[in-house]
Amino acid sequence: MLMLTREDVRLGCQAVDWRGALEQAARALVEAGRAAPEYGEGLLAREAQSSTYLGKGIAIPHGTPDSRRFVRSTGVRVLQFPQGVTWHDGARVHLLVTIAAQSDEHLDILRQLTRVLDREGVAESLARATSPDEVIAALSRAPVAARLDAETLCLGQPAKDRWELALAAAARLRHVGCVDAGFVATVAGQRPVPLGQGLWLVYGTTGVLAPALALATPDKRLSDEGADVTGVFCLAAQGDTHRALLERLDGLIARGDGDKLLGLPAEGILSRLAGESAKAETARVRLLNAHGLHARPARALVQVAREQPLPVRLRLLEGSAEAVSATSLSKVLGLGARRGQTLVFSAEGEGAAGVVAALVTAVRGGLGEPVTPLEEAREEAAPRPPPVAPREAPAPLPADEPLTAVPAAPGLAIAPAYVVRPLEFRYPERAPDAARERSRLDTALSGARKQLGAMVQRTVGNEVAQILSVHLEMVEDPALRDSAVEAIGEGASAEAGWWRAIDTAARTQESLSDRLLAERAADLRDVGRRVLGLLCGVELPTPPEHPYILVAEDVGPSDVARLDTSKVRGLVTARGGATSHSAILARALGIASVAGAGERVMTLASGTELIVDGELGRVIPAPSAQRRERTERRITEQEARRQAAHGRRHEEARTQDGHRVEVAVNLGSTAHTADAVERGAEGVGLLRTEFVFMAHPQEPDLATQIAEYSKAFDALGGRPLVARTLDVGGDKPLSYWPMPQEDNPFLGLRGIRLTLTRPEVMETQLRALLTAAGTRPLRIMFPMVKDIEEFRAGKALFDRVQAQVKAADVQLGVMIEVPSCALLAPTLAREVDFFSIGTNDLTQYTLAIDRGHPELSAQSDALHPGVLQLIRLTVEAAHAHGRWVGVCGELGSDPQAIPVLVGLGVDELSVSSRYIALVKARIREFTLPRARELAALALQQPTAAAVREVLETA
Ligand code: PEP
Ligand code: MG
Repeated sequence: MLMLTREDVRLGCQAVDWRGALEQAARALVEAGRAAPEYGEGLLAREAQSSTYLGKGIAIPHGTPDSRRFVRSTGVRVLQFPQGVTWHDGARVHLLVTIAAQSDEHLDILRQLTRVLDREGVAESLARATSPDEVIAALSRAPVAARLDAETLCLGQPAKDRWELALAAAARLRHVGCVDAGFVATVAGQRPVPLGQGLWLVYGTTGVLAPALALATPDKRLSDEGADVTGVFCLAAQGDTHRALLERLDGLIARGDGDKLLGLPAEGILSRLAGESAKAETARVRLLNAHGLHARPARALVQVAREQPLPVRLRLLEGSAEAVSATSLSKVLGLGARRGQTLVFSAEGEGAAGVVAALVTAVRGGLGEPVTPLEEAREEAAPRPPPVAPREAPAPLPADEPLTAVPAAPGLAIAPAYVVRPLEFRYPERAPDAARERSRLDTALSGARKQLGAMVQRTVGNEVAQILSVHLEMVEDPALRDSAVEAIGEGASAEAGWWRAIDTAARTQESLSDRLLAERAADLRDVGRRVLGLLCGVELPTPPEHPYILVAEDVGPSDVARLDTSKVRGLVTARGGATSHSAILARALGIASVAGAGERVMTLASGTELIVDGELGRVIPAPSAQRRERTERRITEQEARRQAAHGRRHEEARTQDGHRVEVAVNLGSTAHTADAVERGAEGVGLLRTEFVFMAHPQEPDLATQIAEYSKAFDALGGRPLVARTLDVGGDKPLSYWPMPQEDNPFLGLRGIRLTLTRPEVMETQLRALLTAAGTRPLRIMFPMVKDIEEFRAGKALFDRVQAQVKAADVQLGVMIEVPSCALLAPTLAREVDFFSIGTNDLTQYTLAIDRGHPELSAQSDALHPGVLQLIRLTVEAAHAHGRWVGVCGELGSDPQAIPVLVGLGVDELSVSSRYIALVKARIREFTLPRARELAALALQQPTAAAVREVLETA
């Protein structure tokens, strides 16, 4: 939305020519701190491409996409030239609305301005304005359009009469947030007004939050008191904003299309309401232009439309069903079409098919701009369809052609696909007996609780269980039930009420700026479907008996828990990215996985053979015999290496010249300790103790913690255990430990910073660890330490407890995760017993790349020379004081990184249990001098890519 202040407007400007005017505009942006002086070049370059003259005396200069890097903050400067300036295209300009935009915000400004252009006399009033306020008033009137879209339609209602339909339509408006309960009550007492052709109308003005029009249609043609009913419109009116909608209704009836709405899908209805008759030819096309339909491509499109022998109309599939003439530049711009949205062209008459096809071809060709195809997983998601919404069928995948996706978990697999399609739930929207619906809901909720409880038991100790525990909490959330019960009280069925509650909560979650929290919306919907399945009696799918590759839209944790994971060879998801649960789960399960492969993977038939390459991020359907053979050979080789490594898993890891490196395990739960020892772990190098806290609905007491930690010591049989004190906060909240909302949680109150604010929690944990250890070797480390002061504060607590418990074999260290701590390692090394380098966080903070960022994580390579330098400093400082250093981040299991880390002097590598044997095998492949040579070489490189390249060729 264009928000102008008086400072943004300069009246009475003069210029000899358009260049002079543009220079003044550029200077104004620079003086306002919106842009660097170089942005002026961008403005000129943009005019060289085509004129930014919009019409009615207004031009909207803005920079080329290339020059956006010179924009400091998005903003606008408005310069008035009362005498006018002749623009380079011959137009006479009185107002320059000069835009500094970092991304596509200028589209919103354009959209707003094009509506201004529609007003009579606006050019003159802008040229003559004598105060900034007049200009602001003329430009800033926010257009309010009444809402009518797929979400305001509720089709196929099992209603008995017009009144029930009217109520359903009003309830829909309430559900989408356009009206309040008062509006629904007003409509409930109203007699629907006949519009003709079986259509009826109810309306209200009280309780309207945003103007909108809903339509409810019956599941079959109704006859009510002898009158035909094919649909009831419900209008939430505000001012005259709905007038255009009523005109569209008139148009529909005038064309005689009113009684043809029944049975049409939502898109068909929106098309009729947009003024497209049943006889019109329509064609749709995805807009691929990087910056949407901005002035230049819009102009090209209008040009093509003008060349056609028939009038062409254009609307946005995702928009408010408002169709505009494709020959009007201001109307086309006014749609504000963005990349990824779908344009729908329509024309009527002889040759209409050719006309709309010509426009589709022009759009596909980029309208004078180079275009790149969409990467579905990374582009903004389309509005989520309701559970039973029909889908547009994507093109099937060709055989033996690699499809690129996001690498989610390493590994190579070949097996038949098992495609899990979204479940379809069919249920009535409304039910007359609220008490019965409430009881049905409660039965389903308790059934879901039982299912989830049993699944948590089955998966106890791993990541799946943690996520399922969150699901259990969601099912038990009284707010969700209350919200569903409220909807039931208003006449909704248990299913509709429950799904509404889930959908509203999920949408709220999705709107959060914190990506990790926003991703929890998927969990909410997962829980929602579980309960819906119980209500509708929909069976959850049964997987095949043979090994398979699971293909799904996205994989919720409960889906995985239901599957026999020993049979899943690979995972392919249409949606999701590196941080999605499917990726986390795949890594936890150690199976090859790719994410974000796009909707086309859902066209695969179950049973189609698939290759999944989790390292390169590729899926290959129906591979050729040669490709299949090659892949099988690679799998066999990998397997042979794994077997050989496994055979020597209990031996120490020594380089060829006898230098010993300890290989320990990273654990997220003590339940896995025995398994890790069996896989060759020489100790636990990192126990992420937060699992004990996260697995309980309230803070675990001393006895609970002692019992947990004792399990690990017992299973270790005298091997050392390195426990990290509680590392929550920021992106890992604890439900019973309220924390302030932070803009930047990774830079906020987390790790030791947080635990130091609650010393009693830290003390209990230290006491539990020391007590559980007794005489067994225990190493304790603090996470997220930034300097000696934090270590000392933690140590003071430790000393107090240890003075009482007197555990026999304890060391106290810090994790090196914050660059300052690595730089200050010499000061810390004097006082700590050891360092353990958390390369995951250390890389995040060194490279300033969020460790879970879906686009940047590929660049977030811990083999970056910047990170390696910090590791070098840490090891040098530690060894100078006789301390040992471990690496417990993911880098420790990277085959390329292992010789570098050993060469830098790292004494211990702590890795996920399934990598232990492989890491040991890798260490046996080189000598210490060779490792030192590689480390020195790596340190000299300028980038992570150069490090990897030099290691590959050295
Ligand atoms: C790390 O940051 O490298 C680390 C091991 O800790 P976590 O991944 O648990 O943050
Ligand atoms: Mg960390």
